[in-house]
Amino acid sequence: MPHESGQLYVVSAPSGAGKTSLVSALLKDMDHIGVSVSHTTRTMRPGEEDGVNYHFVDEPAFQAMIDRGEFFEHAWVFDRHYGTSRPAVAARLAEGEDVILEIDWQGARQIREQRPATRSIFILPPSFNALRTRLSGRGQDDDATIARRMKDAVSEMSHFNEYDYVVINDDFEVALAELKSIIQGERCRSERVQLRHSALLEDLLSHMPPVE
Ligand code: GDP
Ligand code: ADP
Ligand code: 5GP
Repeated sequence: MPHESGQLYVVSAPSGAGKTSLVSALLKDMDHIGVSVSHTTRTMRPGEEDGVNYHFVDEPAFQAMIDRGEFFEHAWVFDRHYGTSRPAVAARLAEGEDVILEIDWQGARQIREQRPATRSIFILPPSFNALRTRLSGRGQDDDATIARRMKDAVSEMSHFNEYDYVVINDDFEVALAELKSIIQGERCRSERVQLRHSALLEDLLSHMPPVE
């Protein structure tokens, strides 16, 4: 991926912790950042739209994408395939846009291996009961699906310490502010500022005597 300057983020959480709500609120408040739309073989929920929430594909189409090497990462989650297509992410990073991948811990590992500069954020619920309440309160999954997701929640959460940052989503606005401050802090890192403001730095330093 030559000439890229955007920052890549991975956000993971057990299903129902609030990852999608937090990321979509973040995108409303911040510029130059977008979320990657994954491919999945799971069925569409009421209110979901193909190409917006996911690219919904069948198993043969997903397999064909694997065979063509089109995935940046892919994983088997809750008995379905999920994956991030490489070209869309590469194009946005190359334009200097930050990109968020909302993916599970297996995908996060694959991304870190390929791109160690990725920053990763894990969202935790304030309690196990709150997670159950949110998952059923979302009202979009049947009982079997909710049970399946709760069964994997502990296993997903057990990977929290592989992440750079952890946000506990108790009060939504507090969690959102924490998420924003992570992105803002990353944007102030010296190497990121050098990428964005190279002309300014060159100009400022041209007025100074050289450092001894
Ligand atoms: P200023 O905000 O007008 O001083 O100009 P900047 O160049 O600092 O930022 C312009 C826009 O780019 C702002 O909306 C920032 O949030 C955004 N921005 C800042 N840092 C980064 C970054 O590292 N990557 C990306 N993609 N956008 C950034
Ligand atoms: P995920 O994408 O992690 O599966 P969602 O963003 O779909 O989770 O959130 C699951 C449910 O919990 C949604 O109904 C959402 O409105 C609700 N929710 C999210 N954050 C909070 C919060 N801080 N307090 C209460 N409910 C929340
Ligand atoms: P949901 O079906 O609730 O949208 O997502 C279920 C799980 O799949 C979540 O843990 C989510 O992070 C994960 N997931 C969604 N898209 C991807 C993807 O592209 N790659 C991987 N590895 N996991 C994904």
